[in-house]
Amino acid sequence: MIYFSIDLEFWYNSPLLKKTIYKEYPDYMEETVDFLLKKLKNTNNKATFFVLGSVCEKYPKLIRKIALHGHEIAFHSYDHKLLNNKDKDEYYKECLYWKNEIERVSGKKVYGHRAPAWSYTNWLYDVLEKCDFKYDSSKNELRFHKAFKENKYNIKEYIVRNFGFGYFSIPFAGSIFFRIIPYFILRFIIKYNEKKFKNVIIYTHPWEFFDSSWIKSFKLPVFFKLYNFSFIKNNRKKLNKLLLDFKTESFYK
Ligand SMILES: [Zn+2]
Repeated sequence: MIYFSIDLEFWYNSPLLKKTIYKEYPDYMEETVDFLLKKLKNTNNKATFFVLGSVCEKYPKLIRKIALHGHEIAFHSYDHKLLNNKDKDEYYKECLYWKNEIERVSGKKVYGHRAPAWSYTNWLYDVLEKCDFKYDSSKNELRFHKAFKENKYNIKEYIVRNFGFGYFSIPFAGSIFFRIIPYFILRFIIKYNEKKFKNVIIYTHPWEFFDSSWIKSFKLPVFFKLYNFSFIKNNRKKLNKLLLDFKTESFYK
């Protein structure tokens, strides 16, 4: 089983960018979502869209459109600020309000949650339980995540896996790692991990499918450009190959 997930956030929501001036640049949200919907439709695949409250606020019709295409709608916080910088009560109110709002706008029930930028915290599952989420995909197979306490609720966990063992494990499932690894190696890793773990989670973002000409005029810090926009030129082709080679699903059907 290959779970294909898209974190539906603006490119300037990255924790690497501190200034809000970047919001003045275009977000190309509609263009990229249309591209993704078309690709998924043509290859007969399904995906889960982890939606930011602020994206739903700006593009309600787009969220409805994604739902009408038969994809799952899940929640990815309101503003993509790291959970370590929020308190439990604040995040509870945010989840409660925006989960309802996204359900109203999309016409679909929201079951899933993913924290912004893997910012998993010890209190997260208390909030998810109170807000009636059925599953969470906030954990990455990173060492620091193993230090957190066990989930005592009946909330299913979908952990994003790496490839390899212990210190030799390499991330492959999303962002720059997915973009940088040649496709034939990615395909091997996905097949290998699917056998080993029974499922593989792939995650991506709308901005990873930008046309490189769109961002030429953006004045951004070099490290940000490297991390977020390098290797995007071939990413549309890579996604196409992936969607043709594998059958992808949403987490919750
Ligand atoms: Zn995100």
